[in-house]
Amino acid sequence: MVVTHRQPISLVTGICAGRLLGVSDTIPNITIPADLLPSDGRFGSGPSKVRTQAVDALAATGTSFMGTSHRKDPVKDIVLRMQDGMRQLFSLPSDWDVMIGNGGATILWDALTFGFIAQKSQHLSFGEFGSKFAKAAQQAPHLTDPTVIESDVGSHPVLVADDAIDTYCFTHNETSTGVAMDVTRPLGAAGLICVDATSAAGGMRWSPEQADLYYFSPQKCFASDGGLYIALASPAASTRIDEIAASDRWIPAGLDLKTALDNSRKKQTYNTPSLATIFMTMHMVEWMNKNGGLEFAAGRCDESSSHIYDWADSHHLATPFVSDLSMRSSVVCTIDFDDVVTADTVASVLAANGIVGTDSYRKLGRNQLRLAAFPAIDPDDTRALTACIDYVIGELT
Ligand SMILES: *Cc1c(COP(=O)(O)O)cnc(C)c1O
Repeated sequence: MVVTHRQPISLVTGICAGRLLGVSDTIPNITIPADLLPSDGRFGSGPSKVRTQAVDALAATGTSFMGTSHRKDPVKDIVLRMQDGMRQLFSLPSDWDVMIGNGGATILWDALTFGFIAQKSQHLSFGEFGSKFAKAAQQAPHLTDPTVIESDVGSHPVLVADDAIDTYCFTHNETSTGVAMDVTRPLGAAGLICVDATSAAGGMRWSPEQADLYYFSPQKCFASDGGLYIALASPAASTRIDEIAASDRWIPAGLDLKTALDNSRKKQTYNTPSLATIFMTMHMVEWMNKNGGLEFAAGRCDESSSHIYDWADSHHLATPFVSDLSMRSSVVCTIDFDDVVTADTVASVLAANGIVGTDSYRKLGRNQLRLAAFPAIDPDDTRALTACIDYVIGELT
């Protein structure tokens, strides 16, 4: 086994190295003037810009935090600060839980098919992430086939109230396409509302009255690192988790939401988490709260994203991909380019100048740049970014 694995890996590495060389050969040699550059060049949609202040604060903990037990107070205190920070940021009612677990949103989808969907779910599928969760539910042998409602990329469909549905699932912001939708309980729906808010949470407004499970990974708006999921759970959601755990359904221990819920209430995770991720998430949520909470954070996203859309609207070679204004994301902006500009080349030139993460979502296959407008990103840097793109396009055309 070891031998058969080794060979293809070295082969692939060889090919990759060759390809990388090939690409860098063809990147036009363009130097963006230093006075145009943003102070921080990270515009990726995940992993996203981590504030250097968070990294510095983590380093400043020295010997007191990293490398210590996640079952002891120095770490549990930070977990609690992170949980309390989320309660404050989202104005959660006191009977909500702030669940945490390992594996990020992707692994949580599997856990939800075991421990949250009772029998039949409804999914909105309008991009990569929503469709992956729908597929997980479709493949789960113990569930009834879900209802999946699709729409063209660049738009979103709407939930349809249905008595047969116990769980409604959708994405607050579809990171792959830059389409956002409001978190709203469909009129007359009795099922629970389960929201993938991975790239929206902390950057977009929503009300806890409209959702039951609002979950995310912290490497997007929370400017932290990956590997963790955070799931805000209403009392109805935690009751659902308890009920399924008490049923005779087989649930793998690592995907057991009841175990995650119980551990979260003790400021812990079932197995060892990334302490750095937890620390930097805590640091970011406290920074948001100190500066005015969700209104402050979402306001920064609004400022950056409206600058990007206004810029694209007035640019003769650029067009916002999402044409319906009500569906345009305020945290991830997708901008299409006229054929005379190759967006990938623009992204490569930007990267060579230290501005990274602007490439489009590969599978979307458009001549597009995707620009994050997350709370950590300074709107002044967003203005610098579009000036840099203008400069590069000017040099290329
Ligand atoms: C990034 C992302 C995910 C996947 O998050 P992981 O932490 O990599 O599992 C899921 N949903 C959305 C909307 C995302 O943006």
